[in-house]
Amino acid sequence: MIKRFLPDMYQESIFTINYKKLKKNGIKCILFDVDNTITPAREEKFYEQTKKLINKLKKDFKIILFSNNFPKRIKKFGDYYSVDIACVSLKPFSFKYRYILNKYGYKNTEVAAIGDQLLTDIQGGNKVKITTILVNPISEKDERETWLNRQIEKKIFKVFDKRKLLQKGKYYD
Ligand SMILES: [Mg+2]
Repeated sequence: MIKRFLPDMYQESIFTINYKKLKKNGIKCILFDVDNTITPAREEKFYEQTKKLINKLKKDFKIILFSNNFPKRIKKFGDYYSVDIACVSLKPFSFKYRYILNKYGYKNTEVAAIGDQLLTDIQGGNKVKITTILVNPISEKDERETWLNRQIEKKIFKVFDKRKLLQKGKYYD
């Protein structure tokens, strides 16, 4: 049961992910969470470093910003990074994932999702059996709706730790 929250990979940030390995594993499309994955939640920060990374990744992968947040916010990031966006995704529900797989014509084995939350990004991705990658949240501040999720997440991390499945700060790919 607890394994539905377990990411396939766990990395410090989007900059430490082994994208070569993803490519080797047959990944063709990467879904990036937005809040606290590429920008601090509740802030609008655009990073040159992130733009460089995304531009590099575009050569090997289709990049899509896949967020539960609203178009008003996400569109700005889509424009800045020149990538497609999917908003109000209602993670962890699976239908937007399925919609995206269908729309772009990818199999679940060809898609990876990167995000900072076990309950939304990882659980949702695991449901549709895409590759899930957890990163640490950029900021301690969260969207207001996230508060309860973080409380639950803390408990899940404890169980992970007890069962030696994942330890905070111990990264793996
Ligand atoms: Mg997030």
